[in-house]
Amino acid sequence: MELPTGGSIWLDGELVPWDEARIHVLSHVVHYGSGVFEGIRCYATSRGPAVLGLAQHVRRLRFSCRIIELPLKFDDAAISAAIRETIRANGHTACYIRPLAFRGYGKLGVDPTGAPAQLMIATYPFDSLHGRAALEQGLDVGVSSWRRMAPDTHPAMAKAVGNYLNSQLVLLEAKRHGYHEAVVLDVDGYVSEGSGQNIFLVQDGVLYTPSVGDSILAGITRDLVMELARDRGYSVVEQRIARERLYTADEIFFTGTATEITPVRNVDGRPVGSGARGPVTEALQAAFFDLVTGRAGDSRGWLTPVQAEP
Ligand code: PMP
Repeated sequence: MELPTGGSIWLDGELVPWDEARIHVLSHVVHYGSGVFEGIRCYATSRGPAVLGLAQHVRRLRFSCRIIELPLKFDDAAISAAIRETIRANGHTACYIRPLAFRGYGKLGVDPTGAPAQLMIATYPFDSLHGRAALEQGLDVGVSSWRRMAPDTHPAMAKAVGNYLNSQLVLLEAKRHGYHEAVVLDVDGYVSEGSGQNIFLVQDGVLYTPSVGDSILAGITRDLVMELARDRGYSVVEQRIARERLYTADEIFFTGTATEITPVRNVDGRPVGSGARGPVTEALQAAFFDLVTGRAGDSRGWLTPVQAEP
């Protein structure tokens, strides 16, 4: 994805020009990965731009900060307001939103105490992660030779910068092997998630997804998809999933803010179901895109308009 070169970035309480949103090379985060972030989407709706899952993402950012003991100076209301302000300042109708809380410049050494906590929010245009065609045609994926972090190593439930070294290794290997994405197993060999997306399997009309605690990030799209599925009468089971179930599932799809809902058509060279997007995946995609574009009702308040006060 090409980054834009203009616009404003919110940094520690104020909007600054894009090129002036800088940090020092000796900032703590650069050396020790002491940061947590979010990935959020703002969609174009008939009522104007609206942020999907704003409260949930801001809450997860705060939880991530608590897990890594990063003292955030801004409360949820201030962060939500800052996100909406940044989108307005940049004039987006739809965009990706990247907040990052991190340890800045002031002290180096593994102990982060004394390195100042900073917060930045950037917004930029972003279409689909894997290309529009993938939403229909699906992805080829392989099981990674890398594992997700064991529960007593890195905190998988924090969206911590350092965790994404694992994701990078996973994705680099997958692409080298000719796959679009990977499925990563947890330390015990059970299915965990993709490099940056949660996974669902469909078998006999029932949805299965790994539990929180199986080294996954508790995805907000995952929550939304479980809600949409249950609203439509599907059972959703959160459980440990053995690798071989990837080879017998009727359908598999990924969920995530960037990924949205993307089918998997092939795992390790074996077709998933018929090898094309399945009917449950398609129905959930339709429900998802109807919700995020404002075509369907939003009784649970998933969308926060950028313009009006919520
Ligand atoms: N797992 C990982 C490792 C991720 O990076 C993401 C993207 N944030 C997800 C799952 C999906 O989470 P969400 O639906 O909240 O974007």
